[in-house]
Amino acid sequence: MIKVCLPAIALLAVSFTLAQAAECGPDALGVSRTLKVGTEGGLKVGWKTYPDTLPLADHEVILTFDDGPDPKTTPLVLDALKAQCVRATFFAIGRKVDAAPQLARREVVEGHNVALHTYSHPQPTLRYMPEATARADILKGAVAVERAAYGQSFPDGDPDDLGKLKLHAPFFRYTGFADTADLNAWFAKDRVAVFSVDLWASDWIPMTPEQELKLIFSRLDRARKGMLVLHDDKPWTAAMLPKFLIWLKARGYRVVEIEAGPGHGPVEKAPPGWRSETGRTIDSIRPRWVKAAARRGVRFKVKPAPQE
Ligand SMILES: [Zn+2]
Repeated sequence: MIKVCLPAIALLAVSFTLAQAAECGPDALGVSRTLKVGTEGGLKVGWKTYPDTLPLADHEVILTFDDGPDPKTTPLVLDALKAQCVRATFFAIGRKVDAAPQLARREVVEGHNVALHTYSHPQPTLRYMPEATARADILKGAVAVERAAYGQSFPDGDPDDLGKLKLHAPFFRYTGFADTADLNAWFAKDRVAVFSVDLWASDWIPMTPEQELKLIFSRLDRARKGMLVLHDDKPWTAAMLPKFLIWLKARGYRVVEIEAGPGHGPVEKAPPGWRSETGRTIDSIRPRWVKAAARRGVRFKVKPAPQE
């Protein structure tokens, strides 16, 4: 029997958000609306990988950050978001959350979601791990997030399944967008949504903040809307963010925040002719992964990509 103790941190987050909203003048970018995302029966969103995404109007964006929290760069990212009263979703790495729990807590207190991105960020991705090892890594990451960010305690021991955790932000992003059919089914059973993305900044490649700013807007202005992924552990992204938020406002973009809601969805279908972009990318680097797995003495087979 798992006892879950819910803390006062949720109340703290609400009161902080209200105080923050009062501080934000008309010049701040702010959040234009909240989109409730129902994860009942699972959900897979983000046109880079899936034919569904979260529905947005023209010039609406959802901001997501992966691979934090990082003691050097995440505080800068949080400062920039706070200055513009913007709220985002952080897909945090459990190992980093354990190393910097106060940053994960700060994210929640400042009104952001802290969602899941595995414990160890395994290379080369979960497709190379036996199912039980992959599940254990994801679960350990989820426990780290719930404990540090949301203040859950588990007096009878850590939960041994996702369904036994009361996830505050039941959203998961695969490392390298490399999903598997078995893990997708597990997430669906436990009402966890799988997040790919609509747009990325390619900020895993080192670049100057100016280059990154130009690159994002060239992509965003073409798409006119979408869920964007940035990496809060990259110094060029942290440096670029204050100007990026100002430019969003100047160009008429509005930020939509997400939170877990009832039911399933909503989703918007991709236009005709849609194809998974991450599937092609993953296939193209597959030979390198196979070699790397062999070097690490990994004997099990690489799991295939889901077919549907
Ligand atoms: Zn990542």
